[in-house]
This record gives sequence, structure tokens and C-alpha cells, in this order.
Amino acid sequence: MIRVTVWNEFVHEKSNAKCKELYPFGMHKAIADFLSEEEDIVVHTATLDDEECGITEEVLKNTDVLIWWGHAAHHKVPDEVAVRVRDAVHNGMGFIALHSAHNSKPFKMLLGTAGNLSWRESKDFERLWTITHAHPITADVPDYIELEMEETYAEPFGIPEPDELLFIGWYSGGEVFRSGCTFKRNNGKIFYFQPGHETFPTYYNEHIQKVIKNAVRYVTPVYRSEKIEFPNIPKTNKE
Ligand code: ZN
Repeated sequence: MIRVTVWNEFVHEKSNAKCKELYPFGMHKAIADFLSEEEDIVVHTATLDDEECGITEEVLKNTDVLIWWGHAAHHKVPDEVAVRVRDAVHNGMGFIALHSAHNSKPFKMLLGTAGNLSWRESKDFERLWTITHAHPITADVPDYIELEMEETYAEPFGIPEPDELLFIGWYSGGEVFRSGCTFKRNNGKIFYFQPGHETFPTYYNEHIQKVIKNAVRYVTPVYRSEKIEFPNIPKTNKE
């Protein structure tokens, strides 16, 4: 079984009426619900309200893939929690950063850049283009996914060159964005996926759900170490 932890700051659901109506139990619950439909996935959730954000060493030890949704409260995540996530990814844990998690501490620490982007919060339509079908994350995903409304995220996007670019978002305002990117950091695989503004029903879209399900399987650890070791090599007897 793939053990997934869905982390959500769980802030907008309590303060924004539209978000509350769409996600009465939080976006983490909506994401956990569709992942739980899969026979090979077992899901746990955690939020900012939990002690240590619910991201303790013990939780990470029992997490194969961590999914992160944050926006208004990135700064409330203690640095030590972000470091813990970064180190777990270096050791092999998979990490999926959704939507505004581009500015989350763990994502920025892992990528080493500011992670900023251009945006417009409006009701633009998005057509999310699948660049290649020859990838596990795009398996059974259509040539494009149409989202009636989504927040516009636009280039420039302050990330290192992705290892793989799998989706490009196009918006009715004319902007484009690198919406689906993979990265590797030591043993760990990372997937960034743009859709998922809190006031739109994006996580109920079956194709968006399919991408996230595929991504969970893709970033699942192939190998996980206790810690990354770069040992000093013993001298040979020639010396
Ligand atoms: Zn947003």
C-alpha cells in the first residue's frame, strides 16, 4: 500500500464562505476522499492546527507521499517542519506541491529558488494541455483538461528548469504557465501541479483527480534511506 499524507493549512475553508461551501470539511478531506477510492492507496491527513503541523518525524517515517496545499499561512509553518519535509524527500519520500504550494517553505527549500509566479485572481477559463502521454502521470489523462474557472498562474515562474514538463496551462486572458513539472532531489521525486484555487471546485474534476492519483504512484519511493550518507573512502594500501 502507498501511504499518503495530505497536508492542508486549512485556513480559507474557515474564513471564506465560498471555499467553505465547496470544501466543508477542507480541501484535504476532498483530496483524501478521491485518493481513498484507490485500492493501493491509504490516506492520512494533517493540518496547521495539529501539533507540529501534524508533520512529526514519526508521521513522515510512515508517509510514502506527502501532498501539500498551503497559501495564506506559509509563514506559520515552522522552519524545522519544512526542514524535516525537505530531509524526508532527500531520503526518498515523494512530494506533491499543489497550486499555491509553489510558495510553501518545503517546496522552496527543495527547489532552492523563490518559487514566485505571476497571477491574476479572476474567473478565467483554463485549458490545461497534456504535453506528453508517454509518462506515468499523464496515463489515461485526455489531451487537455478544461476548467471552467481557475486562478490564472502565469510565467515567469521562478523555478529551476524542471526535469520533465508534463502540462502547460493556457488561460482565457492569454497567459501560459508550466502547470505540471517534475523534479528529483537526491532519492526523492517531486511533482508540482498548478490547478486548485480554493474558491473553485477543481479537486472534484475527475481528470484532475486522475493526475493526482497517477502522481502519487509516480513519486512513491523507489528507494528510501535513513539518511543520505556520503562516506569518506578508506585509504587503499598503496598509500
Ligand atoms: Zn489560488
